[in-house]
Amino acid sequence: LDLQAEDLQMIKELGAGNGGSVDKVLHAPTKTIMAKKNIHVETQPQVKKQILRELQVLHDCDSPYIVSFYGAFLNHGEICMCMEYMDIGSLDSIYRKKGPIDVEIVGKITYNVLSGLIYLYDNHRIIHRDIKPSNILLNSAGQIKICDFGVSGVLINSIASTFVGTNAYMSPERIQGGPYSVKSDVWSVGITVMELALGRFPFPPDGKQLAILELLNYIVNEPAPTLPEGMYPEDLSQFITACLLKNPDQRPTPAQLLESPFVARCQMAPVDLKQWAELVSRK
Ligand code: ADP
Ligand code: MG
Repeated sequence: LDLQAEDLQMIKELGAGNGGSVDKVLHAPTKTIMAKKNIHVETQPQVKKQILRELQVLHDCDSPYIVSFYGAFLNHGEICMCMEYMDIGSLDSIYRKKGPIDVEIVGKITYNVLSGLIYLYDNHRIIHRDIKPSNILLNSAGQIKICDFGVSGVLINSIASTFVGTNAYMSPERIQGGPYSVKSDVWSVGITVMELALGRFPFPPDGKQLAILELLNYIVNEPAPTLPEGMYPEDLSQFITACLLKNPDQRPTPAQLLESPFVARCQMAPVDLKQWAELVSRK
């Protein structure tokens, strides 16, 4: 599929994040609805071409837990990436509209996220680097997939030098400038799972707003957050405690977390993600 800007008709803007925006578009020749991410980076044209070459790896990513990729191109100096459109949207918008997500559903979401991380690492040696509720997407078939992982080293560096790379889902070792590993993704999974079950971002525990630098300071120096006592199943609390160990060497791997009592129990639970998708998409 040779994607060209001229063949894409704008339908609407889906959202904007740090350094980019995402549009719902129609690829007219194939009548395919796509999500087009526009990324602005301040680099030379050759560097942008290099990024496009590195993004080609996405064509080889094929998993039910990963948002599929249609192609990428340059348009007026912006890097445009076209991907599978997920019609219900991201989990942050779902809990903001509908409140905290039921524990069994959170467990099934967790299973999909961990399976996606394992797929990326085992098959492509890719570390996600940006797990958070807005990068977990749902469609009306009840599929849950992750997007926005770091495939292109050059793109990661270009974004880092164009924007201040602070992110509230970053692990303590990353905030302190340490190397990125799969264990840093595990920290972000812990924060994300907590956020979905609580219906709010878990830092700081009292829910007060902190400026970003204060927040990063808190993450590094204060104890990791825990779920309120007595309101959630013990296996979920244990799952979160394991993900949020400050020492990355002590954190479990995604494969170990897949076998945790919390994830294993929810995987057996008789809840249907397609039904849940119908429920959350109702007005
Ligand atoms: P962020 O992830 O920080 O919110 P993005 O620019 O990556 O910023 O995405 C903006 C919004 O676009 C997301 O919050 C999500 O709701 C929506 N979005 C991104 N990708 C898709 C997709 N493939 N299908 C549907 N919606 C998407
Ligand atoms: Mg995103």
